[in-house]
Amino acid sequence: MKIENVKARQVLDSRGNPTVEAEISTSKDSFRAIVPSGASTGKHEALEMRDGEKAYSGKGVLKAVSNVNSFIAKEINGKKFASQKELDSALLSLDGTENKSKLGANALLGVSMAFTRALAVENNLELFEQIGEISKNKNFVLPVPQLNVLNGGKHAGKESDIQEHMLFPIGFDSFSEALQAGTETYHLLKKKLKAKYGAQATLLGDEGGFVPPIGNVNDRLELMLSAVEEAGYAGKIKIGLDCASSEFLNNGKYSVGEKTFSSGELVDFYAELVDKFDIVSIEDGMGEDDWEGWSALTKSLGEAIQIVGDDLLVTNVTRIKKALAEKSCNSLLLKVNQIGTVTEAIDASNLAKSNDWSVVVSHRSGETEDAFISDLVVGLGTGQSKFGATARSERIAKYNQLLRIEEKLNESGSCVFGGKTF
Ligand code: PEP
Ligand code: MG
Repeated sequence: MKIENVKARQVLDSRGNPTVEAEISTSKDSFRAIVPSGASTGKHEALEMRDGEKAYSGKGVLKAVSNVNSFIAKEINGKKFASQKELDSALLSLDGTENKSKLGANALLGVSMAFTRALAVENNLELFEQIGEISKNKNFVLPVPQLNVLNGGKHAGKESDIQEHMLFPIGFDSFSEALQAGTETYHLLKKKLKAKYGAQATLLGDEGGFVPPIGNVNDRLELMLSAVEEAGYAGKIKIGLDCASSEFLNNGKYSVGEKTFSSGELVDFYAELVDKFDIVSIEDGMGEDDWEGWSALTKSLGEAIQIVGDDLLVTNVTRIKKALAEKSCNSLLLKVNQIGTVTEAIDASNLAKSNDWSVVVSHRSGETEDAFISDLVVGLGTGQSKFGATARSERIAKYNQLLRIEEKLNESGSCVFGGKTF
C-alpha cells in the first residue's frame, strides 16, 4: 500500500490537554488516529513529547506534530509499505532511540495507528479483522469490561490513594449483558452515594468514576458490593483494583490513606482485602521497580487472582521477559502509547498470551473519541478490557464501538465473549 501523504495536527484530549492526531492518505481515502495520554505515567514508558513552552502550560505537542510533518513525512510519503511491521520498522529506525525520545512516542503512534486503519480499508477488512491478521489471531473475542466506578489517586486529585475501584462483571454470557449489569450497578452506586453524601459525591473523575469523600478502601469496596447486591448481580460482578502504587511509594514505604506499609506489609494488606471482598484482580499492587515486592505479591496471591503489571511492564517486551523470569505477575496491561507502535504492542500481547498470562487492553486517563482500542481488544482476542466507567463520551465511544462489533460478529454467528481472567 502506498502512502500518498501523512500529516499531523494538535487536537485536545479529554482533560483539555493537547495531543497528536495523525492522518494518512492513500488512494482509497484518508485515515485518522488520535493518541491518548496518561497521568499516573510509568517512568519506563516511551517518551511522550511535550513542548515545555508557555502554551497549554508546557503541554503543547507542536514539536511532535512537526516531527510527523517533517521527518516522518519525508521518510514515508510516496512510499509503499506491505505490512504494519514494515511501516513501524521504518518509524523505529527513523527515531533510532530506545525510548522514542528523538521523535516522540506520540508522533510515532499516531502514524502507526492511522496506518492500521488504512491497511484495513486497503484489504477490505474491519479494523479488528486487520488487527487479527497482523497479530495472527483468528479468534475474535468481546472483552469482559473492567469498569472503573470509583476514581481515586491522580485521576481525582488525591494523594496516598488507591487509584481505581472497578466492577468486574465476569458472570455473564455476552459483552452487552456484562456492560448492562455493570452500568446498572454504576447507576445504583450513584444513587447510594447521593443519598449518603449528597450530590457532590457523584462528581466524576478522569475515567468517569465517582469521587466520593470516602478515605478508607474497605468502606469504598463495601459500598460497591452493596450496590452490586442491590442491583441483583451478587456473585456475577466481582471487584478489580488498580492501586497505581508507584504514586504512593516514597523512600521504600507505601502510604495508603493514614497507613504506611513496607513492601511485605502491603502484600498482607492486599491479602486481607482479597479475603474480605470479591477481588479477582489487582493491578500495579507494587511499585514499578519493586521487583521483589511483585514476586512476593504473586507468590502470595497469584494462584487465586489476576496480578496485572502496568507501570511495571509498560507494554515492553524486555520488561515482560524479566517479569516472566521473576514470576512477577500473571497478566499484562496493554497500553499502546506506553510503547509507541502497533507492532510492538501486538508483540507484547503475543508474548504474554504465549506464556499463559491474561492480557487487559487499556485506555489512558486522558482519552479521546478515537476507539481504536475497541477493535484492538477484539482483534487480539485477549478477552479483557479496561476502558473506564460508562460515562464521559471518550469512554462511551469505546463501549459503543464494542457493541457495534458484537452485533457484527453475532450476525456472522462467530461472537465469543470473555477470556482468561487469571
Ligand atoms: C492506569 O494507571 O492504568 C491508567 C489508565 O491511568 P493513566 O492513563 O493515568 O496511567
Ligand atoms: Mg494502571
